[in-house]
Amino acid sequence: MPKATETVLEINLKSLEHNYTYLRSKIKASTKLLSVVKAFAYGSDAITVAKKLELLGVDYFAVAYAAEGISLREVGIKTPILVLHPLSVNFKDIIKHHLEPSIYSKRILDAFIKESEKQKIKDYPIHLKFNTGLNRLGFIDNDIDYIIEELKKTNFLKITSVFSHLAASEDHNEKEFTLNQIAHFKKITTLLDRKLNYKPFKHLLNTSGIINYANEAQFNMVRTGIGLYGFGNEAKIDAKLIPIATFKTIISQIHTIEPKQSVGYNRAFSATNTTKTATLPLGHADGIGRQYGNGKSFVTVNGKKAPIIGNVCMDMIMIDITNIDCNEGDEVIIFGPDFSAEELANSAKTISYELLTGISQRVKRTFVDN
Ligand SMILES: *Cc1c(COP(=O)(O)O)cnc(C)c1O
Repeated sequence: MPKATETVLEINLKSLEHNYTYLRSKIKASTKLLSVVKAFAYGSDAITVAKKLELLGVDYFAVAYAAEGISLREVGIKTPILVLHPLSVNFKDIIKHHLEPSIYSKRILDAFIKESEKQKIKDYPIHLKFNTGLNRLGFIDNDIDYIIEELKKTNFLKITSVFSHLAASEDHNEKEFTLNQIAHFKKITTLLDRKLNYKPFKHLLNTSGIINYANEAQFNMVRTGIGLYGFGNEAKIDAKLIPIATFKTIISQIHTIEPKQSVGYNRAFSATNTTKTATLPLGHADGIGRQYGNGKSFVTVNGKKAPIIGNVCMDMIMIDITNIDCNEGDEVIIFGPDFSAEELANSAKTISYELLTGISQRVKRTFVDN
């Protein structure tokens, strides 16, 4: 790997391929795999990641919002793209770019029917989202007759798939709840199949669902996000995956601080002994928030852990390197395959998902594919 000369998020596409292959190995050959590339592919780079996954033969993509799907279409991504959380205001663009909306309520269904009539499209693919316990987005069971009635009146739309989302697939203490969600989903899809004269495909599992419930609830497709990026929400699975992103930077300047001197805004760190500090060119504007400061979290310099001291600034953080042999210009690893983003996230009481997606667009993305 090239050594950092500035702050970069290095994305390893070979590791992405490894994770993709691992997740594929957990499902039947006939089961489709959807890659979730929302939020810049979990903070990495949606376009590069989607292009790689398309080459690997992924069946579907999902994004959260329409604009994310449009940016993939604009660079030539041809694979079907499910938009998980479309808003009515996006429907015209969704159709223009051949994105496939998740339809999650009567209001959204009515609005999409209206737009489809305006544009006179035929059999446009839509995906019905049902709420089975997450209570976030989705139709309820009682909406089924309404959906069928409305769709009978039009031939503009066709239900391509029916799906739901698990609330606690990674939590073994919530197994009973998850099994109930699975049973609930089966009930809904059975009812729908009986009332339709065609069979939409079905999907329920996210990454931890694939790990824990592939036997019970694989259906026709699974949806994976965090797993592709190298995290399995438990140590045993983390060991099989490779984090694709390495967040790294360099030491800009080294200071020697005498007792009673302080470091950073509001003098939040105060030296008791002679302390060697290093200033790094990244801060909360890059996605390392203030919650990582004041000794809570560590970065890695020449293989050794260095605590973040004082308050994290907008563009800089300071670390304690008193016991580390290092020089200005040396590489610093914030997280990567050997220094887990999950561990760093946990040190500030959050999860890998939040840390990864919070790496701001100011940080340059670089790519390795060998
Ligand atoms: C984000 C998301 C996923 C991906 O979940 P992971 O835990 O990252 O695999 C799957 N389905 C839906 C509906 C989502 O919103």
